[in-house]
Amino acid sequence: MKYVDTKVVFREVPDEITLAINISGCPVNCPGCHSSYLTQDIGEILDESSLNGLITANPGITCVSFMGGDADPAYIRSLALYVRRQHQKIKTCWYSGRNMENARPVLDALDFIKVGPFVEELGPLDCSTTNQRFYRVTEHGLVDWTDRFWKTIL
Ligand code: SF4
Repeated sequence: MKYVDTKVVFREVPDEITLAINISGCPVNCPGCHSSYLTQDIGEILDESSLNGLITANPGITCVSFMGGDADPAYIRSLALYVRRQHQKIKTCWYSGRNMENARPVLDALDFIKVGPFVEELGPLDCSTTNQRFYRVTEHGLVDWTDRFWKTIL
């Protein structure tokens, strides 16, 4: 698994300061893909060592989000479990381009999960017509936080 770049972001996971890791090799093939460069096999190797380097280079983050990685959900789970073991105060999130059936085996390693492919006519997560869903993963189950992306500033 490879990643193209990283960015500290504030909106992708509500209430968290998140290190978003943009993973390449996306196999989902959404028509109208907004990040077609992520479908290519490009970038640097993402493994426990490089992940640890990214985390320690970004002090102050409260969450790590894997943006993509649908080619190997089990590997995303192993990286998320690594974060939990080595950086216990940092939460874990996965932005999957597939549906919940694909993500379910990974949920035990996550605090947040976004599921659903990009459908151009329905819009992205911050559009109230979106097909995508964002959940907080709790010990009691999934809590749908998607509408937190729809708040407008008046
Ligand atoms: S999941 Fe994202 S990167 Fe992958 S094809 Fe869909 S829009 Fe593009």
